[in-house]
Amino acid sequence: MDLKIGIIGLKPGWKIILDQQGLNYEAVELNKKLSPNQYSVLIVDDHKTTKNNILHYLEMGGSILFSSKAYAQVFDKKIRSVRKKYLLSDQESMFSSIGLIDISNRIAIPKKANIKLIDSGLQVYSGKYKKGSFFVIPIDINKEILNMNACRRKFNADRMELPSEIVAQVSKGKIRKLLVYILQKLHYERNLPFIHKITIPDYQGLFIFRIDTDFCSKDEADAIYRLCEKHNIKATWFLDTQDKSKLEEYFSKLKGQELGLHCFKHKVFDNYNDNDKNIKRGIYNLKESNISQKGFAAPFGDWNKYLDCSLQKNNFSYSSEFVPSYDDLPFFPYSNSKFSKVLQIPIHPISPGRLRRSHFSDTEKIKYYKDIIKKRITEKDPIIIYHHPHHKMLKVIDAIFSHINSLGIPNLTMSEYASWWKKRVKTKTDISYNNGYITFRNLDRKINFLIYKDNMISCLQPKAKLLFSNIEFTKNNLLKREKNIASMRKYHWRDLLYNYESWRSRKNR
Ligand SMILES: [Zn+2]
Repeated sequence: MDLKIGIIGLKPGWKIILDQQGLNYEAVELNKKLSPNQYSVLIVDDHKTTKNNILHYLEMGGSILFSSKAYAQVFDKKIRSVRKKYLLSDQESMFSSIGLIDISNRIAIPKKANIKLIDSGLQVYSGKYKKGSFFVIPIDINKEILNMNACRRKFNADRMELPSEIVAQVSKGKIRKLLVYILQKLHYERNLPFIHKITIPDYQGLFIFRIDTDFCSKDEADAIYRLCEKHNIKATWFLDTQDKSKLEEYFSKLKGQELGLHCFKHKVFDNYNDNDKNIKRGIYNLKESNISQKGFAAPFGDWNKYLDCSLQKNNFSYSSEFVPSYDDLPFFPYSNSKFSKVLQIPIHPISPGRLRRSHFSDTEKIKYYKDIIKKRITEKDPIIIYHHPHHKMLKVIDAIFSHINSLGIPNLTMSEYASWWKKRVKTKTDISYNNGYITFRNLDRKINFLIYKDNMISCLQPKAKLLFSNIEFTKNNLLKREKNIASMRKYHWRDLLYNYESWRSRKNR
């Protein structure tokens, strides 16, 4: 049978998540009769859905992930709409590692339904219907994933005072993880393996170091460059472009680094013309200095549809901000009823400068990044962090680079990762599972797959035919739920101060 997810109600938000994760899926029409052999799992997020076809699929042993509205429609239940700013996974549930999910819309909870509450904090339910199994999620996936609002969020650390930054209002990376865990379970319910494309080129990990130059001096930039040379790190530099002599005499001469555009004026505007003018002036100065750029990173990690429109017109291959998302995988943002052509590469948004503002000592800063690195490796996600040369903190950067190299984590520039990612998106491999064999069709040997069974994982190069019992699995470690979670969303007077500071710095430049 095909290891493929069928989705009824394929909206852009779902497409973003399924593509990020590299899952095989296709949109299913509302009125089609479905057999469990056609789809390993169905996602049903359309409350006008045809009841009998869905029940038939379940009855025959299929697995379904329902939105609560779709579930209520199929099983004749009512739902209760509840206002929540965030959801917090239970300490002892199968989703405990997810922790805190910030959301922006009301959630919908099934009423008087005879189904099992799997996680009371996340309000995830599961149930059985004849031979089939299903899960019910309360979150409006499409609305949350397409939300592009920003707000200040505190980030977790092993101490009282927490760092914060203005980032995406919704923790989209966490929502994706929740869905992936559920899809995994639903495959296991049918004794099927769960398979998706790897999210980084090398199973060992991926380290990307982004530098926003922010009007630093040549000496400040050079101190960071020398650390990159010392540790053999190819960093990705996003340049401020007002000072042409600095571009010509210094940046254009850097070896083995990627150069991209940060800004002319250090600002993102709320209209197309000013953004486009600013970007064009930056590109012009880079060109005059013999620098060619593929990527862009906006001042303050800001993003809006006008900026995106200008980036598309000016042929950028990718951009990297933290308002569309953070701690997440690359994706093509959706606005004005279409997908952008510019790949968004989210990063971890807390820079050493933000840690210093929250009074971290150097030892605490290094520990903070070591923890982030460990988390990303455990989750098989890219490690992408950033820095400003005028903040110096060379000891911290030196320690981070040493740590990365001691772990043997491969390093790429953002543009290398972006072009790998675009190839990955285009590879459409069909996978099926019959009599203990996995078959890959239209395979691309350069894109590996991750295969999961129970709490085990394996990374493998696709082959035409593969005996499942021959695959060597290792333990798939999950994160422990973060401590200190309660204080993350508690208001602190410093939040007000930091908001004032960021308002002032946006005004001044
Ligand atoms: Zn900047």
